[in-house]
Amino acid sequence: TERLKMGLAKTRDKLGKSLASVFGGGQINEDLYEELETVLLTADMGVDATQHLLKDVRERVSLKGLKDSGELKEALKSSLTDLIQPLEIPLKISGHKPFILMVAGVNGAGKTTSIGKLAKYYQSQGLSVLLAAGDTFRAAAREQLVVWGERNGVQVIAQASGDAAAVAFDAVNAAKARGVDVVIVDTAGRLPTQLHLMEEIKKVKRVVQKADPTGPHEVLLVLDANTGQNALAQVKSFDDALGLTGLVLTKLDGTAKGGVIAAIAKNRPVPLRFIGVGESIDDLRPFAAKDYIDALFE
Ligand code: GDP
Repeated sequence: TERLKMGLAKTRDKLGKSLASVFGGGQINEDLYEELETVLLTADMGVDATQHLLKDVRERVSLKGLKDSGELKEALKSSLTDLIQPLEIPLKISGHKPFILMVAGVNGAGKTTSIGKLAKYYQSQGLSVLLAAGDTFRAAAREQLVVWGERNGVQVIAQASGDAAAVAFDAVNAAKARGVDVVIVDTAGRLPTQLHLMEEIKKVKRVVQKADPTGPHEVLLVLDANTGQNALAQVKSFDDALGLTGLVLTKLDGTAKGGVIAAIAKNRPVPLRFIGVGESIDDLRPFAAKDYIDALFE
């Protein structure tokens, strides 16, 4: 939790300080609610989540007959917890062997880094991991993954052919033949507006299904928290195209926009499997709503 607190320092600094002024004493009144609204919007919670939270906080205040602005803090904490708690559904690697994870995201979101962290995370749990180097647009990315795999004892399936779907197909079949526990299918970074690339990634999913009709068992989108409200737009687009089952929100350590989690919870509640709060391997961790909120309000 210490690391998490450190990781969330920026969001906390900004949100916490502004909240401190809202909760700083005196009577609860309309001005205070207005201030609170501004603070929530500034933390990138978005209009819908902000309105939802304000309404919920008001209800708590009247239900409990709260008068003092200091008591608003606990009310907000409870409202926020209720809102984002449903996103806390840990990813369970079970029921399928191989368990197939497919990973999507825009360039620079932290996809490659997160896949490396995930591979090591599962390896450390005694599971064998195979990576499909499906980022076939960048030869360097492929090479990098192969080298990384050799260094870390993780099997990597790569092809020079340049067809991401074929790589995924080979990888799933190799994993079956080798009795591997977890397959992670990397894909090239793409924007939701690049329609031909969105078609390509849909094809990767279809081909994975051909290799294993039960898969993919997890379709993850990696998001950069710095993109704030745009992260929500990405969730919607990728979810519409692929049917997302989970999210990874990276770079929470470098941003004051950590509130986007509330926006996602309100508008497109895809389970938030992991958050990234730094560049080291331990900095990718399962999302825990309570720890996150405690770290924010500390
Ligand atoms: P990709 O293009 O999506 O594969 O992105 P990369 O995995 O190459 O990551 C882009 C940059 O973000 C790299 O410099 C990573 O070290 C950095 N990065 C990824 N995740 C995190 C995180 O949680 N926190 C921080 N501070 N940096 C991260």
